[in-house]
Amino acid sequence: MPVKKSPVPIKKKSATKKAPPRKAARAKVAVAKPAAKPAAKPSTKKPKGRRPVGPEAVHEIFARFQKSNPEPKGELDYVNPFTLLVAVVLSAQATDVGVNKATRALFAIADTPEKMVALGEERIRDYVKSIGLFRTKAKNVFLLSQQLIENYNSEVPRSRDILQTLPGVGRKTANVVMNMAFGEPTIAVDTHLFRVSNRIPMAIGKTPLAIELGLEKIIPAEFKRHAHHWLILHGRYICKARRPECERCLISDICTSSDKIL
Ligand code: SF4
Repeated sequence: MPVKKSPVPIKKKSATKKAPPRKAARAKVAVAKPAAKPAAKPSTKKPKGRRPVGPEAVHEIFARFQKSNPEPKGELDYVNPFTLLVAVVLSAQATDVGVNKATRALFAIADTPEKMVALGEERIRDYVKSIGLFRTKAKNVFLLSQQLIENYNSEVPRSRDILQTLPGVGRKTANVVMNMAFGEPTIAVDTHLFRVSNRIPMAIGKTPLAIELGLEKIIPAEFKRHAHHWLILHGRYICKARRPECERCLISDICTSSDKIL
């Protein structure tokens, strides 16, 4: 049957519009800001386990070193203060054995500032080319020889401050020369001595200068002259960086290092 159309158009039920959801009222909660922390004061406490050994222990350490090696020597070859100065300048970041190999022939023909200058920078370079940083070092040796001739009557000055004005000469080099050439009780801090002092510990410090000044205060006068040699040799042959040989260490009963292996 045909469907009759209604005379009145049937209104489609309009969908009831939902009111847009009301934005949730934001609760105004006051969030307290964390109070600013007061600036931390540097601690004046010494780190645990890093107390330097006392004066009696320091005396005992050097008494034992002295007993076992009364006249410790450095291991660089030289024939006079000038060749000592040159050898120490060449030894930066190089082994004493390597430097001795190179200087044997060099010092045979140039053991004074005049002879070194006469040799010339280029030939000095040839002699020391087996040593690290040889170009810079050869130049420094040539220039310092010139300066010794011009300003110091060809003599090595007996003053740490003056030595440090020469090319290639820093505080450690000056201390070695003052000690070995002139018998002054200076303490030259190399990488071995730095490690040993911080390990035992005797003087504690983050820089070679801090260690040098710290040791100067605590080493008894009777041991000062040879102190740096004893400590350097101890660090080079016993208290080694990677594996200290504590089982044959003379001072293992005094050392408080956490690196100690017994
Ligand atoms: S006991 Fe070991 S760590 Fe301590 S000084 Fe001797 S070798 Fe070095």
